[in-house]
Amino acid sequence: MPWTAADARARYQRLKAARKCIRCAAGLQDADGVECLECAEEHRDRVDARAQTRAGKRARARIAHRLRERRKSLGLCVWCLRAARPGTTKCEHHHHTSKVSRADYLDRKERDAMAIDAASLARSATISNPPRRPAPDRPGANGGAVAGGRTAPACEAVR
Ligand SMILES: [Zn+2]
Ligand SMILES: [Zn+2]
Repeated sequence: MPWTAADARARYQRLKAARKCIRCAAGLQDADGVECLECAEEHRDRVDARAQTRAGKRARARIAHRLRERRKSLGLCVWCLRAARPGTTKCEHHHHTSKVSRADYLDRKERDAMAIDAASLARSATISNPPRRPAPDRPGANGGAVAGGRTAPACEAVR
């Protein structure tokens, strides 16, 4: 007789009712769930190992997605179980948190942009106003052809 899902369920219920481990049928301690300590530990190890695989990561993402969708359909916050603000997917607390972190993010972006602007301004200022050096007494090399102070030390080395 093949072992069916119904059989497995019946065994689970029978063992659970008798306070026996659903895996190895050993007697359970009061603190145990439905598994004995050894089986629970082994189970945890197996779950941990699976979580590291690609399939395991996909499964977790799928579960998280389903959970999010379910919370949304129930009108709950997607990050916790508080009621979401009407028309949104987050509760008052998480709406605020995400707003703050977004503002923080934008602030940081703006600061970065300003820092880049300042740097490029400083750079372009040096390029348009290269440090004036006395023209070397060589024909053609009057410094007009080479813009920028970067080439000036080379001229000095030649001299
Ligand atoms: Zn067990
Ligand atoms: Zn929340």
